[in-house]
Amino acid sequence: MKYDFLIVGAGLFGAVFAYEAKKRGNKVLVIDKRDHIAGNIYTEDVDGINVHRYGAHIFHTSNKKVWDYINNFAEFNNYINSPVAVYKDELYNLPFNMNTFSKLWNIKTPNEAKAIIEKQRKESGITEPKNLEEQAISLVGRDVYEKLIKGYTEKQWGRDAKELPAFIIKRLPLRFTFDNNYFNDRYQGIPIGGYTGIVEKLLEGIEVRISTEYKDFIKENPDIAERTVYTGMIDEFFDYKLGVLEYRRVYFEDERLDTDNYQGDAVVNYTQREVPFTRIIEHKHFEYGNQDFTIISKEYPVEWKKGEEPYYPINNEKNNALYESYVELSKTRSDIIFGGRLGAYKYYDMDKVVEAALECVERNL
Ligand code: UDP
Repeated sequence: MKYDFLIVGAGLFGAVFAYEAKKRGNKVLVIDKRDHIAGNIYTEDVDGINVHRYGAHIFHTSNKKVWDYINNFAEFNNYINSPVAVYKDELYNLPFNMNTFSKLWNIKTPNEAKAIIEKQRKESGITEPKNLEEQAISLVGRDVYEKLIKGYTEKQWGRDAKELPAFIIKRLPLRFTFDNNYFNDRYQGIPIGGYTGIVEKLLEGIEVRISTEYKDFIKENPDIAERTVYTGMIDEFFDYKLGVLEYRRVYFEDERLDTDNYQGDAVVNYTQREVPFTRIIEHKHFEYGNQDFTIISKEYPVEWKKGEEPYYPINNEKNNALYESYVELSKTRSDIIFGGRLGAYKYYDMDKVVEAALECVERNL
């Protein structure tokens, strides 16, 4: 055994675990199948604009411990995410707040907004929401659902909103103030210079091998480490023997444009079903860039197939049950620790990944 830990995946979970393990005197090797570190938070500097290659990432948390921790590895700016939604030729503020409601219904006060939502909720007859559609209508009423949620959600997930779990829509704040902050969290920002730098710092002084597939590597080096931290897909690890977990993948069409400001916001959502992409990201706005050009990425969600990069676990009942049976199976492998968005099959935000990695360290080191 050459190493105490083999860490599979150089994303945020793997990098935090590696850093903490090394700090405690363990010998650590990190491998990643991609040709770069940082997993899906990877950002690439293109002539001064940090492009979020695997989709927009905005760090936000209410956990002071996590915020202080991540600030050891980067300086964060004061970016506040305030996306807008385009529906046909109409434009609305997100998340759902008084700016959205006043534009939609030509009203001024919270009481007027609440009354309209309450009326639409009553008309729908929903008392106990059982799926995303029912949850959305009972939270914000039918107008907001039809214009800003239904089309976006069905594109994003490739499924009818009635077949999706209610918790997904609860990620979004609903408030009756004129506040366009997409998150309710106490702390929020973008690391100045991009996310890749955070992972570089976490992995400083640690042996990392990129372009290295776990299955090939472990065949050639079966006794390389005492224990393995596996942050890839848990079902893939077990050769899909109990079945295949479902994921959504997104792909991006990037354009470099000869304008200093294409859309005036880092994130613009296109909520109409007929528009094939879900959103356009204009990367420079995350860091208040003043370049005389811009880079935009149109985001297209598609169903994931074996061999592709997974992005979003689809946490419906069927998949959650299958995941639980993989958890049972994993108990036969006490030498392997599963973690991260893929290993845990959870729709984690970055702060939850850091939290989970630190907890995992506490349990195992
Ligand atoms: N959502 C929506 N309309 C929007 C933005 C989000 O209906 O304009 C719904 C959609 O179902 C989405 C979920 O809210 O999957 C969570 O959105 P979030 O922005 O948190 O998704 P992420 O940034 O993780 O892709």
